[in-house]
Amino acid sequence: MTKAFVDGQWLAPKSGDQFSVSDPATGNEITLLSDCGIHETEMAIDAAHNAFPAWSRKSPYERSNFLSKIADLLTKNADKIAPIITLENGKPYKEAFGEVLYSASYFKWFAEEAVRIYGDTIPTRSASSKATATKHPIGVCAAITPWNFPLAMLARKAGAALAAGCTLVAKPAEDTPLSALTLAKIFEEADLTNGVFNVLPASSPVEIGKVLTTHPKIKKVSFTGSTDVGRILYTQSAPSLKKLSLELGGNAPFIVFESADIDLAVKGLMQAKFRNAGQTCICANRIFVHKNVRDKFVSKLSEKVSKLKVGNGFSEETMIGPLINSAAMKKVSSLLEDAVSKNANIITGGQKSPAGDLFFSPTIISNLNSDMEIAREEIFGPIIPIFEFDAEQEATIAANATDYGLAAYIYTEQLSQAWRVSDALEFGMVGINETQISDAAAPFGGINQSGFGREGSKYGLDDYLEIKYRLFGNLR
Ligand code: ADP
Repeated sequence: MTKAFVDGQWLAPKSGDQFSVSDPATGNEITLLSDCGIHETEMAIDAAHNAFPAWSRKSPYERSNFLSKIADLLTKNADKIAPIITLENGKPYKEAFGEVLYSASYFKWFAEEAVRIYGDTIPTRSASSKATATKHPIGVCAAITPWNFPLAMLARKAGAALAAGCTLVAKPAEDTPLSALTLAKIFEEADLTNGVFNVLPASSPVEIGKVLTTHPKIKKVSFTGSTDVGRILYTQSAPSLKKLSLELGGNAPFIVFESADIDLAVKGLMQAKFRNAGQTCICANRIFVHKNVRDKFVSKLSEKVSKLKVGNGFSEETMIGPLINSAAMKKVSSLLEDAVSKNANIITGGQKSPAGDLFFSPTIISNLNSDMEIAREEIFGPIIPIFEFDAEQEATIAANATDYGLAAYIYTEQLSQAWRVSDALEFGMVGINETQISDAAAPFGGINQSGFGREGSKYGLDDYLEIKYRLFGNLR
């Protein structure tokens, strides 16, 4: 598993180049991996292109059976795969184990959906005509995935693509390629011997990204990552009019209304904020609390936050692992420094953790204003900024005051308020009295600068399908 997976084989790149993958918790090198480039990318695209006719013509039941097998193998091997995620990403083992099962759930869901790709028959104007709309796989697809859920983000794309009848070339993040290669190993164990699913580990994504977004044989690119990179891929894909799905950054508001069940809201925020040390695109990023419940909420929250154990993900008591790399540490530290320099008040935490170079203490800050970078940027770290509000409309306007539009959360016991506010929030996903919104059966995705396209659900499958309209005329 130190090589690329291309055309069902483990491939060492022509250049012989390798790159190092390290454990963010210790800084130690985990292994050296094949460093793929343009040549291997073109090989993988050709392999996926050659595999497409047979894969797309298989009966949906055959594809479904194969995907079920992947789901089963992931589930069966969860205790062997989870340590690989913890090792390269740093997240606590329990979260990593959950990620394996969550990944399996996408393969299972799409295995079930593969046999339900229905079309339409369309009533026609002429009695001698019949019309249909049928769905067909779009072709060879590319997946570019991030490091925060190194297995699940690929599982979401691969499950849908393969169920639709597409073939896939995947480029995982340079910090976490081992999880993707582990998935390739699972495909190999499921007897995949051709280019239906290919994985290209690489230290430098730019040239590979260019090939994937410009190659005429690639029909669609699915990307999860930063908005800046999403824009680059969008621009590069334009000349060849590739279909795109872009799941980009977020800046999720979390609103606690006066009527909220405060214990429930605190629990929801702990889950939404601290999963993966705050490094998720649907993390609660700006917390708006009604002034009449603010003190109660903050006091219950601080009590929980101060008990969080920071440390190596392999330690059983760890709840917060390291940040992914030094750039992430620099960003989180500088967001906090900027806020403090503009008079933010640290309630708890507020510094690096003694657990190691890349560990940050879970932090709550208040007394914030919109001049602070932390009020506008995606934090991607374990910091909770608390804002206070009075009127409902004030909270809604503040929550919408972002260019992003991925997830939002509200806590209220008033049904009308829940409808009214969730209607007014300009986000692709809204959790009401719940922050665990992600599910294989649900359409995950954003609007505005958070991108477009959906993953999971029947809509996630549609993103890999084209519609063909057929008109049979002059029937006798
Ligand atoms: P983050 O800032 O969270 O690391 P990125 O958007 O930089 O997120 O990375 C997400 C994925 O995009 C990774 O697989 C990374 O290698 C890839 N990537 C980064 N820059 C480019 C690029 N110019 N072209 C193609 N892929 C890229």
